[in-house]
Amino acid sequence: MATGLSPLPKIRQTLAAGGRIPTADAHWLWQHADDDTLIELAGLVRARYHAPDVATWLIMSIINTTNVCVARCDYCAFYVLPKKPGGYLLNADQISERIDDLKNLGGTLIGFNGGFHPKLRIHNYAEIFSTLRKRYPEMSFYELTVAEFMYSCKVSQLSYDEGVAILKAAGTRWITGGGAEVLEDAFRRRHSPLKYTVEDYYDAQRAIVEAGLGSTATMVIGFDETIDERLSHLERLRRFQDEVGGLPSFLCWTYKPYNTDLGGDEITTGEYLRWLALCRIYLDNVPHIRTSVLTQNTDAMLGLKYGADDFDLPTEDEVTQKAGATISLEFERILDAARALGFSPQHRPAWPIPGVASAAKAE
Ligand code: SF4
Repeated sequence: MATGLSPLPKIRQTLAAGGRIPTADAHWLWQHADDDTLIELAGLVRARYHAPDVATWLIMSIINTTNVCVARCDYCAFYVLPKKPGGYLLNADQISERIDDLKNLGGTLIGFNGGFHPKLRIHNYAEIFSTLRKRYPEMSFYELTVAEFMYSCKVSQLSYDEGVAILKAAGTRWITGGGAEVLEDAFRRRHSPLKYTVEDYYDAQRAIVEAGLGSTATMVIGFDETIDERLSHLERLRRFQDEVGGLPSFLCWTYKPYNTDLGGDEITTGEYLRWLALCRIYLDNVPHIRTSVLTQNTDAMLGLKYGADDFDLPTEDEVTQKAGATISLEFERILDAARALGFSPQHRPAWPIPGVASAAKAE
């Protein structure tokens, strides 16, 4: 594959020496590198953070607090417009039942995720999550996604700094990077023009991280995005992490097209794995790359070969299930698939918030 003009020897040398590749090289790798090469290069960056045969996991559920949403993203099979049949907003008792179910399955982390509900103000989120944290002090909570936080700040007429201060004072520790899909404005204009602009998204995430809360990075691929749009997502993320930091992990999953206005076909697992490897290679400043059991099922374990080091075993997520994702509670079967590939999967606690030493105990 490598020719006289191939940048591959230099890329390999740069990565082996602990260096970083430019976006043009990532583009070249995507177009020209075979899978063995991507695995090898992703392994070089993975080894900067993790032992080669170790992977970590936990059991979590994504509890969807409300499906009422005004954003109308065309790739979404989950939302119901306000005042339309089928809309719901869970109360603390209903959420508690779901948390009990998760606990019975051995779960330790809940990622909350819901729609852009026009009546949910920041103080409503603060109140409900305070209640839940008091009921379940042993559990970890990823309370809102950045996207929901942004919308709720808007309807609450609060700046992001003000919104995050209210949540922090109420005990919130994490506002994670969900709702990012492809962070590229052309993509956003095509598919979710009412959601946010990319600059606005990063303004919100900056406010969250600078207030000392934890956050994460995510991406969804497999819509109609171009390679340049995907790389633009990674480029801005890497820059944000250089400038602001505070994101311990990056999770990439794939679009499920069923029951959506956008429709289309799913990308192959092979494409997902190649992209995961490229993310590991390019995002050299993000410690953890997570592979998606939610969308790839047992095949997600192959992602560990392609540079990922961590995964969750999900118990529910209505958003992706409605669009075609299937969830298996046969956790040992999934872990065995990792073992068969030569990995030693280790159960882990939720991560501490970067830079906040005391978070290790609480989270
Ligand atoms: S993806 Fe999220 S923001 Fe977009 S319509 Fe669905 S629930 Fe609303």
